[in-house]
Amino acid sequence: LDYSSYLKGWIRTVPNWPQQGVMFRDITPLLQNPKTFRMLIDIYVHRYMTEKVDLVAGLDARGFIIGSVLAYELNVGFVPIRKKGKLPFTTVEEEYELEYGNAAVEIHTDACKPGDRVVLIDDLVATGGTMLAGYKLLKRMGADVLEAAAIIELPELGGGQLVRDGGLDLFTVCSYK
Ligand code: 5GP
Repeated sequence: LDYSSYLKGWIRTVPNWPQQGVMFRDITPLLQNPKTFRMLIDIYVHRYMTEKVDLVAGLDARGFIIGSVLAYELNVGFVPIRKKGKLPFTTVEEEYELEYGNAAVEIHTDACKPGDRVVLIDDLVATGGTMLAGYKLLKRMGADVLEAAAIIELPELGGGQLVRDGGLDLFTVCSYK
């Protein structure tokens, strides 16, 4: 069984959402089906179970869904990297550029220790800005980021390349040309 194309069949494309011209890759059907949800998580578990991972860091918000399940399965803790203004304790912040304007992500200052071996996860890499911002936060905390993981990569937007050029390995399950 080709897991990648099988899982891709459970990702729905919604044209013109959230705006005209965008093809939104919707992972909710994949999550809703117990077989594909488990298949996806198992791909990550098999990849990281022998890697001495200390922590899984998930990006707001779909990175929380897969990241927390992966952390639980690896028997390690989960840390959320949230959009600015959502975390209650003291935070470190990293700004990044969007198509129009800027955005920022934050992490709690006690979320990880120097030397912690971290897997960073989100659902999709488009321009790569979000993943790189999360990576910069973790590096500023002194973490050892083993790899970034996502379900989907959009190679035409060059985000995966940008992440890899930034020094972070990226593992993805599906891609859309
Ligand atoms: P980037 O920062 O790489 O340009 O955008 C990636 C972020 O935007 C991720 O957090 C991801 O959840 C969200 N995103 C952008 N486009 C899509 C899409 O088509 N489908 C999904 N599921 N998320 C998207």
